Amino acid sequence: MLTTNEIRSAFLEYFASKGHQIVQSSSLVPRNDPTLLFTNAGMVQFKNVFTGQETRPYSRATTAQKVVRAGGKHNDLDNVGYTARHHTFFEMMGNFSFGDYFKPEAIELAWTLVTKNFGLAKDKLLVTVFAEDEDAAGLWRKIAGLDDSRIIRIPTSDNFWRMGDTGPCGPCSEIFYDHGPDVPGGPPGSPDEDGDRFVEIWNLVFMQYFEDPPGVRTPLPRPSIDTGMGLERFAAIMQGKRDNYDTDTFVALTQASADITHQSVDGAFKASHRVVADHLRSAAFLIADGVLPSKDGRGYVLRRIMRRAMRHLHMMGTTDPVFHKLLPALIQQMGGAYPELVHGEALIRETMRGEEERFKAMLDRGLHLLEDEKSRLQSGAPLPGDIAFRLYDTFGFPLDLTQDALRGSGHDVDVKGFEDAMTVQRQRARAAWAGSGDSAVETVWFEARDKFGASEFLGYATEQADGEV
Ligand code: ATP
Ligand code: MG
Ligand code: MG
Ligand code: MG
Repeated sequence: MLTTNEIRSAFLEYFASKGHQIVQSSSLVPRNDPTLLFTNAGMVQFKNVFTGQETRPYSRATTAQKVVRAGGKHNDLDNVGYTARHHTFFEMMGNFSFGDYFKPEAIELAWTLVTKNFGLAKDKLLVTVFAEDEDAAGLWRKIAGLDDSRIIRIPTSDNFWRMGDTGPCGPCSEIFYDHGPDVPGGPPGSPDEDGDRFVEIWNLVFMQYFEDPPGVRTPLPRPSIDTGMGLERFAAIMQGKRDNYDTDTFVALTQASADITHQSVDGAFKASHRVVADHLRSAAFLIADGVLPSKDGRGYVLRRIMRRAMRHLHMMGTTDPVFHKLLPALIQQMGGAYPELVHGEALIRETMRGEEERFKAMLDRGLHLLEDEKSRLQSGAPLPGDIAFRLYDTFGFPLDLTQDALRGSGHDVDVKGFEDAMTVQRQRARAAWAGSGDSAVETVWFEARDKFGASEFLGYATEQADGEV
């Protein structure tokens, strides 16, 4: 059985043997790209190469890219722990052609790797193409020998990629794996596609147009390729599992969570162990890349992730801070491929410990308040926004933590009421602000809040530009 680490290496070596330069993952904090909260796809570090603003000494590259999808357009936070295939942090494997090879080679390279090198059975695979992309459908028939029932045409923007409102764009084609009829879920494009049966493993983007102004497309003289394959999803398949959380890496992490909480991996707290394992990875990797928990922006997303994991650990009966104690298990799994975890160990550990110490003091009281308020609600009624706001403001509960805590109870949060309470407090703060004497500082502070809006400023609903592969 191949380990996740071996699969990563095999992917990179395969593309290296086909003339691709192995390029290091870039940081989770995108450089020179204020439009993007976190690196959320392999192509992010190559954006300027695709637009031609930057050149590199190679025209083919391959990477294992660290990505986080916990905010903005790609926000998988609420799926974590509850689907078999979503993480907030994951590794996106990719191969890239900068005006070098195009569609036929990209399809051939992917198909050969998946079916020959990794040996997946052809009858477990199906593909999607953009409905208008006859070219791609024909290539899948010819190169992979797939018949039309296995080439699904998708007419929506799901299969048409664009970098932004203007710039490179083009159709994409995805490879899916069928985990079999006893897993719930339908094929791509069907009403129940959002299940764990048909899992998208690889997305191939064919950048063949340039759009500018919006709506006006011209063919690119040298089209490019950008692909993204989810390492954890692929590892599950290669290890004969239906669930990412049953792969070697995740078993080690959920087991560490089980050991520290003395709650069995598959018992009542199964989802909690998964949330903890996932959030351990995103928190550790974000801190290693220099993000620290804070009140807004990237730091607030990190804080939300950490506090959410900490609530689950607390629920499992831990009294002392324990999140940081899971770090050695992560380093053992991933420190070889990502030495920043080893170098950053002390910083990561102390950041986690400090955050949990501070939060623990309020968590218990906040949870009591929440339980109390919940017991007063009529069945199905939302938690009033001012209560959610009090939890946020006084007890340090990020909105999504409260939502997560209410999950399965039949209650959700009156989000509008929460935002209104936030606005009222903001206005009150401004009115009461006696001033530091430095009006320039005050103006900047309040203007930033007004410009971004409370929610965006606090980072829980930050929109971000499309960084999809
Ligand atoms: P999905 O439709 O399953 O949400 P996606 O279309 O959003 O995936 P892409 O943006 O195409 O994903 O990313 C490329 C690949 O990364 C996907 O084919 C999938 O294998 C993997 N991937 C995407 N999101 C996640 C996630 N949250 N956790 C783990 N792997 C993911
Ligand atoms: Mg998605
Ligand atoms: Mg998809
Ligand atoms: Mg996709």
